[in-house]
Amino acid sequence: MARVSEIAFACPTCGAEATAGLDGQGRCAACGAETALTLSSSLRDQRVVDRCPACQGEQLWVKRDFNQRAGLAIVILGAALAPFTPFYSSLFVAAAIDAVLYLLLPEIAICYRCQAVFRGFRRNPRHEAFDLHVAEQYGTRRS
Ligand SMILES: [Zn+2]
Ligand SMILES: [Zn+2]
Repeated sequence: MARVSEIAFACPTCGAEATAGLDGQGRCAACGAETALTLSSSLRDQRVVDRCPACQGEQLWVKRDFNQRAGLAIVILGAALAPFTPFYSSLFVAAAIDAVLYLLLPEIAICYRCQAVFRGFRRNPRHEAFDLHVAEQYGTRRS
C-alpha cells in the first residue's frame, strides 16, 4: 500500500492543523487559509525529510505512527477475555498482536521546533528517536 506523503503543520493564521502534499500547497481545514511551503528537493524528489519547510528547522525526531487508542483497545479486550481463555492466554495474544502491529506501523518524522508531522516519507538516517535534551532547546515536550 503506497502512502500519500503529507505534511501536517500549524496554520500560521489560526494555529489549527493545516496539511500540505508534495506540491507544498498547504490548506487549513479550520479557517481555509492557504500556505505555500517551499519543499527542499530532498523532501520533494526523494521523500527524505532533511529540513522542516514550515519553520526551516533541521532537527526532527522519528516515531512509529502508533494509534494508542487502538493498542489500548486490544489490551483491554485481551484482559476482558482472559478469565475465559485457558491460562489467560488472551492476554498474551493481545500483547503479541500489539507487538506485530507496532512493527508494521510506518514511521513519521516530527519537527522539534514547530511540531510539524511528516507522514509517508522515508526515514532520514540522521533522525533518531525523541531526545529530551534536544527538545529542551526548543522548549517543547513530548506529546
Ligand atoms: Zn487556519
Ligand atoms: Zn518545523
